[in-house]
Amino acid sequence: MSVKKKDPRTTEEAIDAVLRPQKWEEYVGQERIKKNLKVIIEAAKKRKENPDHLLFYGAPGLGKTTLAYLVAKELKTNIRITAGPLIERPGDLAALLTNLSDGDILFIDEIHRLTKTCEELIYPAMEDFKLHLVTGKGAMAQTLELKLPKFTLIGATTRIALLSSPLRSRFGATFQLNFYTQEEIKKIIRRSANILGVEVTEQAIDLISERSRFTPRIANRLLKRLRDFAQIEGNGVIDKNIAQTGFEAMGIDNLGLEESDRKILRTIIQKFNGGPVGIQALAATLGEEIDTILEIYEPYLLQLGLLKRTHRGRIATDLAYSHLGFTSKSKQISF
Ligand code: ADP
Repeated sequence: MSVKKKDPRTTEEAIDAVLRPQKWEEYVGQERIKKNLKVIIEAAKKRKENPDHLLFYGAPGLGKTTLAYLVAKELKTNIRITAGPLIERPGDLAALLTNLSDGDILFIDEIHRLTKTCEELIYPAMEDFKLHLVTGKGAMAQTLELKLPKFTLIGATTRIALLSSPLRSRFGATFQLNFYTQEEIKKIIRRSANILGVEVTEQAIDLISERSRFTPRIANRLLKRLRDFAQIEGNGVIDKNIAQTGFEAMGIDNLGLEESDRKILRTIIQKFNGGPVGIQALAATLGEEIDTILEIYEPYLLQLGLLKRTHRGRIATDLAYSHLGFTSKSKQISF
């Protein structure tokens, strides 16, 4: 079954697993979402029913998978984790669904990448816990109706706009995860440093949190990288000097931009005169996938105000010009 296929994100997931919050109290921020989820869970427990299907959306690394684990833990149920691209054929989805038990949670990450056929199969599964399987071909084709266990689907996506409205409407509650504040990121760094058993000075925590792109997964990743620098180039403690040396070596600047982010901004400024430039033209010039720009790079550049999205395309802002050392268009003198 292709669901068992090796996921390319495995290494990152191993890091995530060690540092993943195990209790609500450890899950920093996103207070409104936590409050709402707790109400949904308590109400379902009282009624002795399953909670509604839930949809989480937001940039990668903001804590969608972690929330799904916490919901399962609170309900004391099993959780089965998969992702849209891993469910290639209707048979894969059928195998997944029929292997669940009553009350289980099925978590589908990147749910916007489910195929159309699988998506249509999932509608009756979500609504009536039924699976309509087609056997045979042409005139011999028959639809087989299978009863499914009563499960809760938790979907996660980085691209809510790509979800069809019939699928969206079948979720009882939808939650948008926001970027974290710097204070929240600092809390997460302190907790992770504790788990990893590494000492980090407050000045270093400041530097890391400024460069974490308001995202827990990135904060944890930077912490782990700096731990290596501290071991090799220092005495094991992550202090201001180690952090600065590490960030310089990694090519991460004071806004947390990496070379690939700066390249996007530089390309817009130098090759497209600051924009507006369409996403297709930008992706082609950079040699990047459109989806990678939309999902990985752009949200943070927009959030920082380095990039603006208009109906005519992307524009590099004055802030982007000054951050990269260019004279902004508004200050350029024309003769
Ligand atoms: P997503 O599913 O949105 O890509 P994850 O739930 O896998 O993100 O989170 C990535 C990692 O970031 C987790 O393993 C966890 O260590 C950390 N993390 C995410 N959200 C939080 C949070 N609110 N508090 C503490 N750590 C978090």
